[in-house]
Amino acid sequence: MLKVNENFSNLTKSYLFSNISQKVNEFKANNPDKKVISLGIGDVVLPLCAPVIKGLEEGVKDMSAIETFKGYGPEQGYAFLRDVLQGYYKEFSVELNTNEIFVSDGAKSDLGNILDIFSKDNVVLIPDPVYPAYVDTNVMDGRKIVFMDSNISNNFLALPDYSVKADIIYLCSPNNPTGAVYNREQLTKWVEYAKEMGAVILFDAAYEAFISDESIPHSIYEIPGAKDCAIEVCSLSKTAGFTGLRCGYTVIPMELKCGETSLNELWLRRQSTKFNGVPYIVQKAATGVFSKEGRAKTKEVIDSYKENAKVLGAVLKEMSIDYIGGENSPYIWLKCPNEMSSWDLFDMLLEKANIVGTPGVGFGKNGEGYFRLSCFALKENVIEAAERLKKLQF
Ligand code: PLP
Repeated sequence: MLKVNENFSNLTKSYLFSNISQKVNEFKANNPDKKVISLGIGDVVLPLCAPVIKGLEEGVKDMSAIETFKGYGPEQGYAFLRDVLQGYYKEFSVELNTNEIFVSDGAKSDLGNILDIFSKDNVVLIPDPVYPAYVDTNVMDGRKIVFMDSNISNNFLALPDYSVKADIIYLCSPNNPTGAVYNREQLTKWVEYAKEMGAVILFDAAYEAFISDESIPHSIYEIPGAKDCAIEVCSLSKTAGFTGLRCGYTVIPMELKCGETSLNELWLRRQSTKFNGVPYIVQKAATGVFSKEGRAKTKEVIDSYKENAKVLGAVLKEMSIDYIGGENSPYIWLKCPNEMSSWDLFDMLLEKANIVGTPGVGFGKNGEGYFRLSCFALKENVIEAAERLKKLQF
């Protein structure tokens, strides 16, 4: 008789975004005259830049002519895009072979799918607060999860604890939800720990393009020895507005082995069995991101989101509200004033300032008492939100 995957019954229902939208919809229904400003969801609002559109148009044109039409593409991605990505890594002094780069339809898919190549007996180490997909994908597989506390005592950057034995370690820097970034020394500690444990680090670099501080690594492979113990998962979603277009890339170095088994080979086998590649036109568009003009234009867009962070940061400072993030990240993580709970602050901001943010507790227990503001918003809305915030009395 058919049986379902019983592990799904162990998933905790995520009420976070459904609760938020329910509360926001109710508020809007009762206050149709009020303009609600969303600084909640981490989705981009600015359109694709011209070099990306040019790539899309070229791709469409190629598909319309018999000489240039493309059917199934290589599962690992077209060489033209992998060559460009190889060049991008050189900017961080990271040398990769193109066969170490896998073009994906985004980071979320690969973060979940990569678990196919690991045993369900592995112990997983996950920071709290956290991007929820790391937890749920492992619960679905029935893996044991150990949480590590990211809190104010470690500036929301958990460091290795050698008394905890782990096989798979999730790190996200710049971090969603906290906006915190690991420096070189801290990442070195993680690489040393992973090697000691014989573990693999799944390094989520979805927000690397927001790093402007030159001392902060964009890639874990900037740390000596990381190629032996880390997989890096990247995304063009926030880098270049691809949340709707869908493209990312995952790096698995040849050096990365489990015993004699190459993880690169396992992943290639997994991908060629279960994945048929990213659309040609999307890969053409992605190539546009890395052209000289594409780099300049995407930087302009990222800078405008970071300008929003500056505006919000300035008002929080003025109001003596502590926060981190916003400097190398699109997220601001603030301490709820007067020991308010995350949801109490959510309700207050919605009612009194008509601003939507995300209660920190939705990302894990250490998020209670904290609140995330997303800077993916139009500048004029952020300026208006800042004016409204200033008027609040706590
Ligand atoms: N990783 C983190 C930390 C994220 O915040 C997100 C999206 O918000 C993703 C991965 C997913 O990115 P993608 O759109 O490439 O699937």
